[in-house]
Amino acid sequence: LNQILGWLPSKIVGTNFENFIHEEDKKKFRDLYKKSIESTDIQLAEIRVQNRAGGYSMIEFFVYSDKTGESDRVYYLGRDVTERFQYDNLLLEKISKDELTKLSSKKFLFESIDLLIQELKFGKLEEFYIFYIDIDRFKDINDSLGHTAGDTVLKIVANRLLKETNKHNNLILSRIGGDEFVMVIPCNEKPTNIADICQRIQNILSEIINIEGQSILLTSSIGVSKADKSSFDSEKLLRNADIAMHEAKKIGRGKFCIFETKMHERKFNSLQMESWLREAIINENLKLHLQPIVSM
Ligand code: GH3
Ligand code: MG
Repeated sequence: LNQILGWLPSKIVGTNFENFIHEEDKKKFRDLYKKSIESTDIQLAEIRVQNRAGGYSMIEFFVYSDKTGESDRVYYLGRDVTERFQYDNLLLEKISKDELTKLSSKKFLFESIDLLIQELKFGKLEEFYIFYIDIDRFKDINDSLGHTAGDTVLKIVANRLLKETNKHNNLILSRIGGDEFVMVIPCNEKPTNIADICQRIQNILSEIINIEGQSILLTSSIGVSKADKSSFDSEKLLRNADIAMHEAKKIGRGKFCIFETKMHERKFNSLQMESWLREAIINENLKLHLQPIVSM
């Protein structure tokens, strides 16, 4: 370990090794010892140990006690896994965070919604709401000011939403793609005023943004879906909020809509009709029954 940690033997030999262990890992280190003398199995743990460079190295310890009866020694084998640990953390951050805005990623959002669904099931939570927010005509910003300016606008939007989110407890905020953001609000006793929340979100997003000498006024469309005890599918909940958001776009943008089952039926029926028509054209199934002749 001297070599791994860079300490001179004179500094470490004869001292209590626990002094070099990170405060938060001391208990884990002591437990390793305890477990190893209680069992014949090799005990394993990752422990942060102070190194000579002034930081902590992550050491993977294998600990076992000699039960042959000849001695009662406990052996510690350690190897430096700092690089792997840092890489794992980086990877975890990459999959749980959106790179541009540092908000939660889509994957993390789904996991969080699944947890909330569990809470509904066990009666720990009454209901929760999913707000699906999409910036109106965002492509125009990219097309007129460039992609980099577009990125800056997305970061500003993320920060504004985050500021709003931090005012509430347990609120989840995620960027799930392009200019789409999702806010999840769990609620227990107080009835949630959806209209108020949507208007607040739309107000904070519509404050003027100054970028490259231009003033930009954003509007946004929001779709809302509600989850209660009967909800079990995170994907469906998110899809419903997405459908409601598209309804808000249809009625003129800068609006919000709350999901209703008939919205999904309409969407489903029109998709089905479209594929039937395409199929009918390919198979030459369309027949002319009436062709009115009109005099203009
Ligand atoms: P609508 O009102 O229908 O929402 O129109 P829109 O122009 O906002 O269109 P839409 O939401 O469908 O498209 C979002 C655009 O965002 C598409 C893509 O060009 C752009 N985009 C996606 N990801 C990024 C990104 O990371 N940075 C930037 N700058 N633009 C992105
Ligand atoms: Mg958009």
